[in-house]
Amino acid sequence: TTPAPAMGGVTPMMEQYIEIKAANPDSLLFYRMGDFYELFFDDAETASQALGIVLTRRGKHQGHDIPMCGVPVHAADDYLQKLIAQGFRVAVCEQIEDPAEAKKRGSKSVVRRDVVRLVTPGTITEDKLLAPSESSFLMALGRVKGGNAASQGSFALAWIDISTGAFRVAETTAERLLADIFRVDPRELIVAEPVFHDPELRPVFDVLGRVASPQPPSLFDSASATGRIARFFEVATPDSFGAFSRAELSAISGAIAYVEKTQKAERPPLSRPEREESGSTLFIDPATRANLELLRTLSGSRDGSLFKAIDRTVTGGGARLLADRLMAPLTDPAAISARLDSVSFFRAETRLCQGLRASLKSVADMPRALSRLALNRGGPRDLGALRAGFEATGAIAALFATTALPAELAAAFAAIKALPEALARHLSEALDDELPLIKRDGGFVRSGYHAELDEMRALRDESRKVIAGLERSLIEETGIRSLKIRHNNVLGYYIEVTANHHSIMTGSDAAKARFIHRQTMANAMRFTTTELAELESKIANAADRALSIELAAFDRLTAEVVGAADSIRAGAEALAVLDVSSALALLSESENWCRPTVDSSLAFEISGGRHPVVEQALRRSGEGPFVANDCDLSPEGGAKAGAIWLLTGPNMGGKSTFLRQNALIAILAQTGSFVPAQSAHIGVVDRLFSRVGASDDLARGRSTFMVEMVETAAILNQAGERALVILDEIGRGTATFDGLSIAWAAVEYLHENNRCRAIFATHFHEMTALAGKLTRLSNVTMRVKEWEGDVVFLHEVGKGAADRSYGVQVARLAGLPEAVVARARQVLHQLEEGEVSGKANRLVDDLPLFSVAVKREAPKPARNDALGEALGGINPDEMTPREALEALYRLKGLA
Ligand code: ADP
Repeated sequence: TTPAPAMGGVTPMMEQYIEIKAANPDSLLFYRMGDFYELFFDDAETASQALGIVLTRRGKHQGHDIPMCGVPVHAADDYLQKLIAQGFRVAVCEQIEDPAEAKKRGSKSVVRRDVVRLVTPGTITEDKLLAPSESSFLMALGRVKGGNAASQGSFALAWIDISTGAFRVAETTAERLLADIFRVDPRELIVAEPVFHDPELRPVFDVLGRVASPQPPSLFDSASATGRIARFFEVATPDSFGAFSRAELSAISGAIAYVEKTQKAERPPLSRPEREESGSTLFIDPATRANLELLRTLSGSRDGSLFKAIDRTVTGGGARLLADRLMAPLTDPAAISARLDSVSFFRAETRLCQGLRASLKSVADMPRALSRLALNRGGPRDLGALRAGFEATGAIAALFATTALPAELAAAFAAIKALPEALARHLSEALDDELPLIKRDGGFVRSGYHAELDEMRALRDESRKVIAGLERSLIEETGIRSLKIRHNNVLGYYIEVTANHHSIMTGSDAAKARFIHRQTMANAMRFTTTELAELESKIANAADRALSIELAAFDRLTAEVVGAADSIRAGAEALAVLDVSSALALLSESENWCRPTVDSSLAFEISGGRHPVVEQALRRSGEGPFVANDCDLSPEGGAKAGAIWLLTGPNMGGKSTFLRQNALIAILAQTGSFVPAQSAHIGVVDRLFSRVGASDDLARGRSTFMVEMVETAAILNQAGERALVILDEIGRGTATFDGLSIAWAAVEYLHENNRCRAIFATHFHEMTALAGKLTRLSNVTMRVKEWEGDVVFLHEVGKGAADRSYGVQVARLAGLPEAVVARARQVLHQLEEGEVSGKANRLVDDLPLFSVAVKREAPKPARNDALGEALGGINPDEMTPREALEALYRLKGLA
């Protein structure tokens, strides 16, 4: 029934809708109507488009049709998922009273409704909306304007995964802001409005797009932050969590305030904010992170990423921990060694490792189940998940009981042992084997757990028997063999006879008194009796009573679970540590990886290194083995600076693969993983920079060359002596001599100023002359073999410089027309003879940074002395092309 239009043409329901919508302008409003969530006006148009559902109309508003669309409540999760994935926020508005209550207030009263929850990308808890192996972080940015410090003040980031309760905070700076955000890779970043609109920070939020959203500044107010934090955690003061800066307090407060705003009455069980010391993790700038394809490939898929290649975990928590660690490798050699010790332990203890993994497979996602229960969104299966977790931890604790463990595993073992045994027992005693999704369906409490519940169930089951007996006796009494006792939701239990038999039930006064008429159908009549009505209410009461006993048990268990949140979370984290360490042990065994030595030196010495992703891909496609390569950038002879490798070689020779594999080996080592190499000695890297591949920033209106230069500038400005830098073909995007000059100067600067370990791949062979000048620079090249005019790539890195680039041969392999290839050979020949050869040597002479001129190697005396003499007399730099050609003919004649 459509409510009657109220004065002014607005129905009371619409009035309510408009009021609630006005309070939630930036969310789509899911307005509960019976079994549907309905959307109106613009929301309806947006949602019908985004979801591909029908747009209809319902009634009129101020003379216009109201656009409307709706989604069934039972399928709401699927629609929410689609909307959230597209970056929308949704306000879920429920009826918060029984419709009967509204009726009591008057026939025109509308059922009270209110928004019970805001669903935003960073605050979801539903299993369906979450990928099991991915964290789902909400991040808040806090800024405090500092007195006379830089105008931008100081910054901090706080991030929460409300699906697991993880809560961390770290200070940052305007300069590293974007890199720190990318490290955590949040689903949602909230920022105080004035900060969001600060023009100096604009580029950061532009890059983040819809992930970042402006929020009222009151959420971040650092003055009231302590109070808010203390209230949330129910402590007198947050001081006991650690000493936080004002920016950190502001970020923490913003995150908590937003959680409160979106979760309304419910409070997720967050752990206390844990502070990350700045510098404790390897700094990886955003471009490098994207280009190295740590978690996702450049095209956004997980397949082909480093994570996918190394992930052997079996639990959601383990996969999330591995991803978190990969995104934030450590810089403290002791902490890295502690993780490596765990992996070594499982490498050695094969049997224990296998036993552990068998048990881990049955561990469900405990922290996520816990969060749902605490937020009142849980069901019996969430309790079941915890039961399964407890059972598995019991088995795991028994496995480890008698073994000496390295520190990290010993701590994990202690956390597992500290799990509340009583709760574990209660769960397994109370819960049935098979569990329904929704608690209202009942039937999840095990029989034998609660005496009255058993009694009620018996009564219910027995009543069914009694009804069957009653049916038999009524058939006998009336002689109607087709008589049935049936049940539906409107009438409850009733007796049904076909129409041709009704006279037996209604023929006499006595019969009429006994069989009370309820309903006449086309070919049947329905009756009840006092006996049946009594039985019915007994059954209904028993069922009601049984359900309320079950619900009470559910609430009790939930309260007990939530009360033990801290230890459950610690236990689950411990399981994740066991999963990750044992998975890395298995990986290192099956892939033949080695334990790296990571210390505080400046070494970088990899022997037999491989690229983990390319190696696996080559194996899968059967394209032959991956060729292992060494890399040594360690300082020589007590120098306090790393070496630079200048890598030349033809396209397709394997240059990028080699560059990336060394960066990945450093990341893996500092993550605490074994590495794809025969041996590896790495002095901790504090910053990893790369300029590889073409990250397509073109969408942002910058040319490839501009992007390359911006990234190169960042590297030259920031890399210190602990950095590892890999640069691929700098200077490609511009004219040859421009490009060469920039690449040249960049290498000089790296060598003289940054003094860091670096690999620099280039196709400018002229640059190999630098080796004569820069003491810590060595030339290496990707080896190739020539065979009948074609190149064969050996993928082998060797000392020395490529004598040529084989570009023409590679072009031929790619299928350029033969005529073009032949002509290109000719042109190349002339160029090589005439132009370039002299230039590089001149550049060496002109070096601005060095006083000593390079000793140019005298041409080796040729066997044919006439030829040697003639060659000696030629100065290509001073010749016209015509003279050069003539000289060439002359030489040819002498040969
Ligand atoms: P470049 O950067 O020199 O153009 P790439 O690094 O892109 O070359 O390598 C080209 C191809 O050669 C890769 O796709 C890979 O299949 C193969 N490749 C590279 N390095 C190796 C290696 N060490 N062993 C075997 N194959 C390799």
